[in-house]
Amino acid sequence: MLVPALPDWDAAVEVGRLVRATLGQPLPIEQLELAVTGSIGIALGPDHGSDPDLLLQRADVAMYQAKEGHSSIEVYAAERDQYSPRRLALVGALRAAIEQRELTVVYQPKVELASGQMVGVEALVRWHHPEHGPVPPDEFIPIAESTALIQPLGQFVLETALNQARRWQDAGLCLHVAVNLSVRNLLEPTLVDRVAELLRRSGITPSTLTLEITESGVMTDPEAAIAVLWGLRRIGVRLSVDDFGTGYSSLAYLKRLPVDEVKLDKSFVLNMTADKHDAAIVRSTIELAHNLGLQLVAEGIEDQETLELLAALGCDLAQGYHLARPMQADQLVHLRLHASPSTASRPA
Ligand code: C2E
Ligand code: MG
Ligand code: MG
Repeated sequence: MLVPALPDWDAAVEVGRLVRATLGQPLPIEQLELAVTGSIGIALGPDHGSDPDLLLQRADVAMYQAKEGHSSIEVYAAERDQYSPRRLALVGALRAAIEQRELTVVYQPKVELASGQMVGVEALVRWHHPEHGPVPPDEFIPIAESTALIQPLGQFVLETALNQARRWQDAGLCLHVAVNLSVRNLLEPTLVDRVAELLRRSGITPSTLTLEITESGVMTDPEAAIAVLWGLRRIGVRLSVDDFGTGYSSLAYLKRLPVDEVKLDKSFVLNMTADKHDAAIVRSTIELAHNLGLQLVAEGIEDQETLELLAALGCDLAQGYHLARPMQADQLVHLRLHASPSTASRPA
């Protein structure tokens, strides 16, 4: 369909809804009532192209995204287009960046609320592209995940973080290190052996390492994930469910996961002092975690008020810009973090 002179995107989506509603009318054929559904992709001129071929091709990409996401209607988004020039360029560049070790790892402190002490860090990968500048992990991790690059990327971050933990330990700094694993890493058949080997080579006690797996990652294939998580648990690694609250979690699965920690997603924490629903979610998640014998980590703490509220609610660990931003490993050695709910100080 070509729909000229629409005022904005919303109007195009509205047309899509009408088309679907019309398609959805039951269709009587002899004794049967047939239901028809449709997936609709929308591309807008001139934003997504100004020639008919390009617009049609992009509407097609959006339509396949609608099918994949079961969302029925999608507007074209360049960052999700596997064939967009930026994405294609980034795939090639990412491959080279991993091979040439252009990626770096930064570390964000995690603070124990009861003592105000920094007890660990989360390793976060960074990519500074020579032309595009810093590419955010939220953009290049999905690219790595949709190609085979997620395996070497995961290996690089794990190895770097474990070697760093060893260096801190030698310098007298005992820090837990958390590393993010993509669900694609989790389902690699050699994962448990490789983690065991990297731990052995770095000489780090296995329980110093926490592997964070997102809730939606676990829920993609819970049975397979649970089996691998048990394998990791057996070699002594701590496990954490990341971005908790954003996936479709089943509490029945949470009960069965061999995890030590739940990391409540920052979307609930960022607004909890202003939004009483968010505060209620935080409070109930802390209680749920404790009832299951798990530690609760809150991420996204951006001010003192939130830190105090979390401490009052009995949250165990905290991570956020108010405490410290992700930083280079050597900066961390000099960091004196005295964060207590009443006297938290912001590092320079
Ligand atoms: P995540 O694992 O949930 O990591 C926390 C993210 O929140 C980090 O973003 C961190 O910089 C950010 N953050 C920390 N404190 C605050 C705060 O107070 N306010 C706000 N607004 N944000 C805060 P980052 O580094 O951009 O990473 C984004 C995501 O990319 C991570 O989310 C993780 O899912 C993924 N990621 C990062 N490094 C890796 C990696 O090595 N491997 C894999 N598979 N994924 C990674
Ligand atoms: Mg994480
Ligand atoms: Mg998270």
